[in-house]
Amino acid sequence: MNCPKCKHSPLMDSTLSGKLAVNSCQDCQGSWIRANDYENWHQENASEEPDLFSQIHHVDYVPSPFDNKAALCPDCQRILSRAKVSLKTSFYIERCSSCNGIWCDGGEWDVLEKLGWHTHIEQLFTAGWQARMREYQHAEQERQAIVDKVGSEIAEKVFELATILEQHPNGDFAAAYLMRRCEKDKTSFLNQLKL
Ligand SMILES: [Zn+2]
Ligand SMILES: [Zn+2]
Repeated sequence: MNCPKCKHSPLMDSTLSGKLAVNSCQDCQGSWIRANDYENWHQENASEEPDLFSQIHHVDYVPSPFDNKAALCPDCQRILSRAKVSLKTSFYIERCSSCNGIWCDGGEWDVLEKLGWHTHIEQLFTAGWQARMREYQHAEQERQAIVDKVGSEIAEKVFELATILEQHPNGDFAAAYLMRRCEKDKTSFLNQLKL
């Protein structure tokens, strides 16, 4: 059986996390995890659903150059479907929809393990999980945009205040006040331009 990504390199017996039996490629370091092996390993290593995004900031990762390459299941030759893992640098986990085998490119399993997601790979492929990851990524982009606009010192204060107002029953009242204050300056600035 050859590597679905490098095509000509054979997959060799190996393990992930010391116990999970897989077939790995010596060239690209990718691993093929059969559904049965994952299921058996999972029964012994099942864990609570991790706090989904708490660890993301601690994960630094350079995706494998093979990440974007489409591949066929090494067992049944079907095209592998992809699930996006949305981190600062996103990557894809692949799975065969016929035999449910999982392909991780080199390094991807380690990232999933760091996040505590390696015991929840099935969930990565669900619409709900994908939606939550998109939401998280959107929120992060928004935060980054604010840091870019006003600098990190003010941004920290804004985030802190936003959390306080969000939790306060009359937070919207205070937020509207801030909006008015900020808009007023802008309006007068625009009026000055007109004059
Ligand atoms: Zn390979
Ligand atoms: Zn398959």
